[in-house]
Amino acid sequence: MNDTLEWTDNALLREVERRSGASVSACFQCHKCSSGCPIAPDMDLLSSQIMRLIHLGEKETVLESEAIWACASCEACTARCPMGIDIAAVMDTLRMMAVERKAALGDRRTSSFNKAFLSSVRWHGRVFELGMMTLYKLISRDLFSDVDKVPRMLAKHKLTFLPHFSRSTKEVRLVFNRAEEEEKKR
Ligand code: SF4
Ligand code: SF4
Repeated sequence: MNDTLEWTDNALLREVERRSGASVSACFQCHKCSSGCPIAPDMDLLSSQIMRLIHLGEKETVLESEAIWACASCEACTARCPMGIDIAAVMDTLRMMAVERKAALGDRRTSSFNKAFLSSVRWHGRVFELGMMTLYKLISRDLFSDVDKVPRMLAKHKLTFLPHFSRSTKEVRLVFNRAEEEEKKR
């Protein structure tokens, strides 16, 4: 380990590697990932910069970046990395950590939306917008914001009262079950 890393707290690096299964410490800053990223022009931090900031233990900078939310999970970076680092999985892990951090800081909206969205996809195989928004409002206790938009959205058929189920609902539920099992193992 070099002098710089010896002086940094590597707790962030260890946590990201454990949760993502990606060897972030193997990154040698070639920038191949960010040069092939289609979203890079709209990111406040490039994927290679995020890798370096993880090495340096810059937790706040990474988890507060807009880049982790701009990432489209296209996996171009993962395919290009000469060290085989699953950068897309790292970005996904950072999003989960950012949601948990916001919840720990007392902001219920992000984690509430995350729960409502995933619950809707799990049970319908796709998003049922009205059900998702109702659940979000109940668990976030943000009952009245944007309610005035509902009649217009219903009139334009952007919302439906009944859910449409995906033909792959059963498979989607199996994916969720598998993901939960994998998460418990980590
Ligand atoms: S997965 Fe995200 S970071 Fe990687 S290339 Fe795609 S958009 Fe960029
Ligand atoms: S392509 Fe891989 S080794 Fe190169 S900067 Fe990106 S993560 Fe690091």
